[in-house]
Amino acid sequence: MTRPDKHDPASLAFDTQAVHAGNDIDPGTRALRTPIVMANSYALPEDPSSISWSESDPDLPLYTRNTGVNQRHLQHKLATLEGGEDAVVLASGVAALHAVMFAHLRSGDHVVVGDVTYEATYRLYSELLPAKYGIEATFVDASDPEAVRAAIRPTTRIVQVEVVANPTTKVTDIAAVAAVAHEAGAILVVDSTFTPPPLYRPLADGADLVVHSLTKYINGHGDAMGGAVIGSRELIAPIRSDAQVDVGGVISPFNAWLIMRGSVTLPLRLARHQASALTLARFLADDPRVAFVAYPGLESHPQHEVAVRQFGGRGFGGMLAFAVHGDPDTQNRFVAQLKVITSAVSLGHDESLIVHVGTSGPRVATYPADFRRWGHLRLSVGLEDAGDLVADLAAGLDATFGPR
Ligand SMILES: *Cc1c(COP(=O)(O)O)cnc(C)c1O
Repeated sequence: MTRPDKHDPASLAFDTQAVHAGNDIDPGTRALRTPIVMANSYALPEDPSSISWSESDPDLPLYTRNTGVNQRHLQHKLATLEGGEDAVVLASGVAALHAVMFAHLRSGDHVVVGDVTYEATYRLYSELLPAKYGIEATFVDASDPEAVRAAIRPTTRIVQVEVVANPTTKVTDIAAVAAVAHEAGAILVVDSTFTPPPLYRPLADGADLVVHSLTKYINGHGDAMGGAVIGSRELIAPIRSDAQVDVGGVISPFNAWLIMRGSVTLPLRLARHQASALTLARFLADDPRVAFVAYPGLESHPQHEVAVRQFGGRGFGGMLAFAVHGDPDTQNRFVAQLKVITSAVSLGHDESLIVHVGTSGPRVATYPADFRRWGHLRLSVGLEDAGDLVADLAAGLDATFGPR
């Protein structure tokens, strides 16, 4: 067995990596934590005349839009945690999604996209990229690798999916879809925001690029936005030079520092999110006043078996969707009764958040029948005591429908 050494992340178990990767004694101050460096510029070498201002050497801080100390440390950490060669961090998850498109697509290219996907991904691929850049997208049921195969064209450059899709929790078999993408010479881009490591590492199953909204689980405290793309040096380099340096969706050093700090407890937090999500999913599934529950950890979930195999018993994430029996007003009345869980967008925060999503809009047409009939409540299960959360949901159901 190799001896664990905090300077050699590969020698460390995940929880030790979460503490030590990307952090080291600061050479300037001897501080044990990398200080927040808000400087825009860094001292140039003696002869800077050959430096290209569009270049980004991740290890040579120059100007914060090219790279800075706090970005660099967070990039090292995320590459380690996802098992990738390199990472680039940007201002938000959406900036990271856009950076992949901007760096790796050109006019005339075609993309295959999972039909259940984050709102901005949908709008970028369904409206903005076709209209502005002549990039076409086909939306398919990504839980069916044969549907992905059937949608591939000679011009397909990217296959883009979510592991557990926002908001319906549909699960994609990443290894199967990676095989289909690679057969066609396309790269597989995986938005793994709902399934951060150590729950899942898509690169190990053949994904080429992994995208995270750092705003969610990886920061985990609801107080900083960021996004990341992780993958091979070859695929990350154009993202850094084209999308970060020349388009400029750079993360603030302060946010990078906050996310670095938040990510230390990622494995501990995730374990709690997941345990409580399973408890809440079972509680809701057992209540006749609840119309349906979608959580990959329930046997009733259509891709439960794929999720068990793919996540190898490490859990099913902290996100679930459900609806109570009744019209949209009833869903709203139920949410209004909750006194611990807060009605707000976003997810992966320390506190539980719930959002009522209705039955209209172009994306809903592809959702399962239950979602189309009732609408749904997307619940991000937080770090509160699970008993308090169950009691909050139970009291909300009693107040809306009368006692069971
Ligand atoms: C929130 C989210 C994003 C966008 O991230 P921001 O940090 O809000 O820009 C992308 N993908 C998924 C799955 C998300 O949940």
